[in-house]
Amino acid sequence: MTDDCIFCQIVAGDIPSRTVYEDETVFAFLDVNPLAPGHTLVIPKEHHERLNDTPADVATDVYAALHELVPSVEAAVDAPASTVAFNNGEVAGQEVPHVHGHIVPRFEGDGGGPIHSLFGSQPDLADDELDRIAADIEAER
Ligand code: AMP
Ligand code: ZN
Repeated sequence: MTDDCIFCQIVAGDIPSRTVYEDETVFAFLDVNPLAPGHTLVIPKEHHERLNDTPADVATDVYAALHELVPSVEAAVDAPASTVAFNNGEVAGQEVPHVHGHIVPRFEGDGGGPIHSLFGSQPDLADDELDRIAADIEAER
């Protein structure tokens, strides 16, 4: 628990939330400022800032809860699809520094786009650059 973290305070029950799921390690609740009806946040109960800081077992639990909740959220609001995403780090738009997955139900003609629409343009990467990047990622593991 980190005292100044609003999501830790939600887990502790110090800030109210519309809880939709809870188990030993994971908590999920409706987003207070929803992008769509049913917009849900899925978080580990332990405070970890980003996916990068989250221990593997906790990340596995968060993913399992997402996997379980996505169909329930879609069914509850009769949505045919959902966007499931993490803003992972401040530069990527993460405002609450307690790792959380968004489940945003999607509807025909809702005016939203795919994740690709977040980016105005795409870099033009040559094949050898792509080969190098792939090798670098593999080497970092
Ligand atoms: P992000 O930009 O990925 O950090 O998303 C943070 C999300 O937390 C936003 O969608 C906010 O609407 C949501 N949020 C902030 N405070 C609360 C709260 N007290 N209860 C529920 N959702 C919240
Ligand atoms: Zn926290």
